[in-house]
Amino acid sequence: MTTDEAPDEQSTLTPEAAFSVLGDETRLTILQVLGEADDPLAFSELFDRVAYDDAPNFNYHLKKLVGHFVDKTENGYRLRQAGNRVVEAVLSGAVTEAPSLDRTAIDSACQHCGAPSVEVEYREEQVGIYCTECAGQYGGTGDADEPDRPENTERIGYVHLPPAGVHGRTPAEMTEAAVIWTVAQTQALHRGVCPRCSAPVEESVDICETHEPADGRCDECDRRFAAVVHSACTNCPFELGGSAIGYLHTEPALLSFLFGHGLDPFGGASLSTLEAASVEEELLGTDPLELEFTFSIGDDTLALTVDEELTVVGTGTGTTAADEHR
Ligand SMILES: [Zn+2]
Ligand SMILES: [Zn+2]
Ligand SMILES: [Zn+2]
Repeated sequence: MTTDEAPDEQSTLTPEAAFSVLGDETRLTILQVLGEADDPLAFSELFDRVAYDDAPNFNYHLKKLVGHFVDKTENGYRLRQAGNRVVEAVLSGAVTEAPSLDRTAIDSACQHCGAPSVEVEYREEQVGIYCTECAGQYGGTGDADEPDRPENTERIGYVHLPPAGVHGRTPAEMTEAAVIWTVAQTQALHRGVCPRCSAPVEESVDICETHEPADGRCDECDRRFAAVVHSACTNCPFELGGSAIGYLHTEPALLSFLFGHGLDPFGGASLSTLEAASVEEELLGTDPLELEFTFSIGDDTLALTVDEELTVVGTGTGTTAADEHR
């Protein structure tokens, strides 16, 4: 576990120094080779695997990495955590060509209108989820400012997924992976932890105060729901925005409601969970903010009242007064 030339002060790099160290193809190849190795590699073995032809120059590059990204142990060189994270980041997007998928129907019902009319596409590292039968969840207002997005496209949502998540999956599996991944990230975000770098996260809730979703979306905000949440890491570029409903997946009352009806909000059934549990939002007050979300599964309902930090301040359960038999 000891290193002979990695004093602690070398382990902390400014972002500028870290980018500078990594701005070299040979060094990235060294990290990649060490990432693929099962055990630490001796200098000669590492040199051979990187297939470099100038040992002194190779040694120079290797020394730049030792300390922060690479450990030199008595058994050889191996990646430190920072090195692992570089390799992970590269591999999540490492593809010979950027994958894309034109709109394709998947066997899934729209969570808003219930029609079996969901289509998905993949472009610019995002899964677009659309309904061909209803107004979806978001309109296209403001898309012109987002260079990665097709203009003015109404959709259920856009969900980020690295290229590595697309390969080897059907369109339905890709969509499910994107939803599972987003739910997992939202869990950490809403608890104040960045899912990329673990630093604290700042969260803000944007409310449309005159919200009237007459035909599914409101004329004012062009959204189905009045509340949207934006989370941004205080350290790295990671940010995520979306419906407040996704953030309620940390609530024990909602989790037990879903699990109690055989729905796993974290598992492979995430997408069908969204279909099965319909949700309505009601703006109870704006100053201070108070929102009520009512989840329905069959005749059972769960109402959660939340404040401006999306903390649940009230819960209620019930059954809809439907016909005696359905
Ligand atoms: Zn729909
Ligand atoms: Zn609105
Ligand atoms: Zn971060």
